[in-house]
Amino acid sequence: MKHNPANAIFDLKQFGEYGDVNPSITDSATYTFLQAKTMADTFHGEAEGCFLYSRHWNPSNKYLADAISAMEGTEEGWVTASGMGAISNTILHFCNAGDHIVSSMTTYGGTFAFLQNYLPKFNIETTFVDITDLEAVRRAIRPNTKILYTESLTNPLLQVSDIPALAVIANKNNVKLVVDNTFTPMIIAPARLGAHVVVYSLTKFVNGKNDCVAGAICGSKEFINSLIDVNAGTAMLLGPVLDPLRSSSILKNVHTLHIRMQQHSRNASYLAAKFQEAGIKVIYPGLPGHPGNGTMFRMMNPDFGFGGMLAIDLLSAERAGRLMELMEMHDVGYLAVSLGYFKTLFSNSGKSTSSEIPEEVQKQMGLSEGLIRYSVGLDHDIERTWQRIEHCLKMMEVI
Ligand code: PLP
Repeated sequence: MKHNPANAIFDLKQFGEYGDVNPSITDSATYTFLQAKTMADTFHGEAEGCFLYSRHWNPSNKYLADAISAMEGTEEGWVTASGMGAISNTILHFCNAGDHIVSSMTTYGGTFAFLQNYLPKFNIETTFVDITDLEAVRRAIRPNTKILYTESLTNPLLQVSDIPALAVIANKNNVKLVVDNTFTPMIIAPARLGAHVVVYSLTKFVNGKNDCVAGAICGSKEFINSLIDVNAGTAMLLGPVLDPLRSSSILKNVHTLHIRMQQHSRNASYLAAKFQEAGIKVIYPGLPGHPGNGTMFRMMNPDFGFGGMLAIDLLSAERAGRLMELMEMHDVGYLAVSLGYFKTLFSNSGKSTSSEIPEEVQKQMGLSEGLIRYSVGLDHDIERTWQRIEHCLKMMEVI
């Protein structure tokens, strides 16, 4: 039967200690045992259902992890204190010194910086490729490659990763396919399409309130268990654990995610069409002219649309800056980084969330200095929002 991420979340029965409709918050770092042997067995991973210490597992974190893994259709999940915590721990768990990674050149700037600047100190090298060029991906793989890394919809250029095709390449070469699904929760389920591990910044659409930073890792039970193994698990030993109070607030927001994604997609799709009609260069995977439109259509759950992210190109950073200031002044949204918020956010990627990527690499990947990335909000009246944007564009004599 077809996986439905929203139904999978709603079918979970997660009660609180007194029958509360929201699970109780476990506000404890450690747990008591009545028998010494059960404590010893728990440390060896042999006592099912027992909690030993909250850096390893906390019941509130488990409820959230269960909801995210239900959405992704994976056996297990684990939640982290940030998206970067999820990404860095997953990568470090798969790689030893001397290993190699193949990654999409277009990735979130922090991920790019981790791969390019940080991992070389462990003698781990990354080759960056155009992830839509499957032949280039194949060619980049070496005998010591351990990970093929990409984002379902890449940040900020919105390239569509062909996850089933990448999974074939990964499996043939005994490489793990790790996919960041931050831009497309509900819309794409990478693990159902062949990814071995799915990572998230929950900070964005999943939480949707911009009130905290958090992340998640989803995969097989065997992988998650090894990640939190007391002797050699990267997450257990580096300790990027999420606060259970936050897990509990994010879990409530997960239950409105399906409705929010529909509205984000509807609004972004409307604005993308308007930008196009106005003759502005626009990137949105839902537009028929987008090179990844067909690939996305094959992979997506159509109930949730093409997502809330779009980009326009004003060709120069000065013009992008001026338009963003005008849009903030005219109540289109906020000039701010990040995404997935109920208000529209916009930023000039080359000078902000992709600024870790050297200028020559930005050019190589086709990232224009005039690119404005929009995370389109939940506006009730998107026509009114367009009129405000149109007014700003006219003030600048761009249209
Ligand atoms: N992945 C993507 C696609 C992102 O856009 C971001 C943050 O902007 C991250 C990961 C990092 O997440 P966090 O800020 O929660 O560490």
